[in-house]
Amino acid sequence: MTKKIICLFDVDGTLTDPRQAIKPSVEKFLFETVKKEFDLAVVGGSDLNKIKEQLGGKSIFEKYKYIFAENGLIAFRDGKQLPTETIQSNIGEEALQDFINFCLKYIADLHLPFKRGTFIEFRTGMLNVSPVGRNCTKEERIQFYEYDREHQIRQKFIQALKKEFPDLPLTYSIGGQISFDVFPFGWDKTYCLRHIIGYDEIHFFGDKTTEGGNDYEIYESDLTVGHRVTCPEDTVNQLNILMALTRERREREQLGLPMQQA
Ligand SMILES: [Mg+2]
Repeated sequence: MTKKIICLFDVDGTLTDPRQAIKPSVEKFLFETVKKEFDLAVVGGSDLNKIKEQLGGKSIFEKYKYIFAENGLIAFRDGKQLPTETIQSNIGEEALQDFINFCLKYIADLHLPFKRGTFIEFRTGMLNVSPVGRNCTKEERIQFYEYDREHQIRQKFIQALKKEFPDLPLTYSIGGQISFDVFPFGWDKTYCLRHIIGYDEIHFFGDKTTEGGNDYEIYESDLTVGHRVTCPEDTVNQLNILMALTRERREREQLGLPMQQA
């Protein structure tokens, strides 16, 4: 039997350059070549609108079997939305407010080369905390990223939160250039896997697969075959390899069939 395979992709750094729209060449390859062999799905940490912006608007629901925004807390199968949970139902309003208040005070006391707006974005299953503010231009994002590399602003912020809230069942994950995500234990990208049914193999492709990266847990999960990529072009290369291996496997199986029947 030929195995039923689905390819599940991270968005930023895997299908697209960070925060950018998917390149026409990558999209063409996905839908004219890969989709003939495998079903396709995406899982991003950002909200649905940002994923839509990057991957081609409303038509994403026709293109991908599954769309997972916010690590799969917002989930669509064949364009239909699946039921979900929220961070406030999981953590509780009071603890959540203590946490948000601490973040706002911490940010207020931070001195950076510059600050912009939207320091905490409240999402369905997570908080996205940005010391510099999410309303940065592309250039400002890069400037902050460089500054953060040198001064470990996000890393130190996370250490302070862990120290202040040792008992809250929260995971911290640095992704992208200007922020980090905070979500309940287990609500990393592996959350989306509960929605995927009916496949022999789930191949996951991600660029932040080392410990602390937002693809780490799903890349390491026993439920997936993990592919570590460096950029969208590398994703294309690795898909070509996967397709060649799958074709080879299928041919071997087909050659084996008459013998089994005899
Ligand atoms: Mg990524």
